[in-house]
Amino acid sequence: MSREGKHPIKKNPTVTTEPEARQGCVFVASRLIVDAATMFAPGAVAVADGTVLLAGPKEDVLRAAPESFTRRDFPGAILLPGLVNAHAHLQIPRWNDAEGNPIPIPPSFVEWILRVIAWKRGATPSSFRKNFTAAAKEALSYGTTSAGEIAGPDLSVYAACPLRARVFAEGIGFAPDVAPGALGAVTAAVLRLGKASVRNPLVAPGVSPHTLYTVGEGLLRSLAQVAEKRNLPACLHLLESPAEVAFLEKGEGEIATRLYPALRKDVSWFRGLGRPVPAYLAETGLLREGLLLAHNVHLPAAGIGALRDGGARFVLCPRSNAAHGNGAPDVTHFVDAGIPFALGTDSLASVPDLSLWQEIRYTRSLYRGEKKDADLCRELFRAATEHGAAALGIPGGILAPGAPADFAVVDDPGGDGDQVLPNLAERTERGNVRLTVVAGRVAHGDAA
Ligand SMILES: [Zn+2]
Repeated sequence: MSREGKHPIKKNPTVTTEPEARQGCVFVASRLIVDAATMFAPGAVAVADGTVLLAGPKEDVLRAAPESFTRRDFPGAILLPGLVNAHAHLQIPRWNDAEGNPIPIPPSFVEWILRVIAWKRGATPSSFRKNFTAAAKEALSYGTTSAGEIAGPDLSVYAACPLRARVFAEGIGFAPDVAPGALGAVTAAVLRLGKASVRNPLVAPGVSPHTLYTVGEGLLRSLAQVAEKRNLPACLHLLESPAEVAFLEKGEGEIATRLYPALRKDVSWFRGLGRPVPAYLAETGLLREGLLLAHNVHLPAAGIGALRDGGARFVLCPRSNAAHGNGAPDVTHFVDAGIPFALGTDSLASVPDLSLWQEIRYTRSLYRGEKKDADLCRELFRAATEHGAAALGIPGGILAPGAPADFAVVDDPGGDGDQVLPNLAERTERGNVRLTVVAGRVAHGDAA
């Protein structure tokens, strides 16, 4: 936080500010976090047409903003870039029993996957929209403005998605004979999401081969081609559980003995990938810029390096991994080796809430290296903002002029300079989020 208050106002040179031509607003707060390394106290942003026009010290922004702009003041609050939840499944709800108590997560991850499959098959079609609406609202209430969403069964919801989102059309199919059908479904979903993005510019499509144990090699190659041809990012769940490791190595373990038999599918022909994961992803064409790998719990440091060199980015979901007893991603290595990563909550069937603040806190608790806490918290803030946006290939994550006006206003937890981000990380709960703004519109808070 050494740059606090020392920088001149930043102005968007590409946006004209004819006063009468725009209905703008200046948001003033006790502090403004432009990005993880830049803070002004007091600070302000001027917003018009869903975009940040000016961001900087309060007096400079007020002087430069058109007189016609309205003004909102937030004393005792920090205005910061909206958080990016880079891995979510917003159509999957919390699973409660008849009394409304959460149903415990089974110790076996494979049993849990079977439960997800049964839920999806048994759910009423209208429930997906209801789940999605509630989850999006919940995400906004934590100051989250953007999401990496694995598309649920009801694609119609995304035309009215209130979050900025990369929505990945998911493909599943392990045996060669089901590949053409799965490919057709993903292609159709990508087209549908493309149409939704015309109506709702907050969303953009992507492609998601589900996992390497549920997507066979042929389908993986085809989905990689769809992503490349349409220049879309791809998201893959990778090395999330010990069961996945056993299956990919030798075709053994619970996925072979429990998951596929329960689904009445014969995968006894599969004896493992036969090469390291990075080589497999490179050979199938999936490894390139725009590939986002979720979880990465059982990915060794060498694999992380190889995948990063190939253009992949990473999203970690440590609370979900812990809830399933799947282990923990190597947060210390990611942080100490300077490998950018994003954070995601995963679905409400895995975690108790969609709080990225909780995700930051839990990730912070996993770090075992030598970095000072203030530096660690800066990295985690980056993970939850600009690295998340970069991982999803969407704008935002910082509040520079020209960026989308996606931000949150939260109670100032106090502390000077380097202590602000640790305090924010430690103390911010849902009740501290006063306002969440997406594309210049209040999406959570007083006027939402
Ligand atoms: Zn997931």
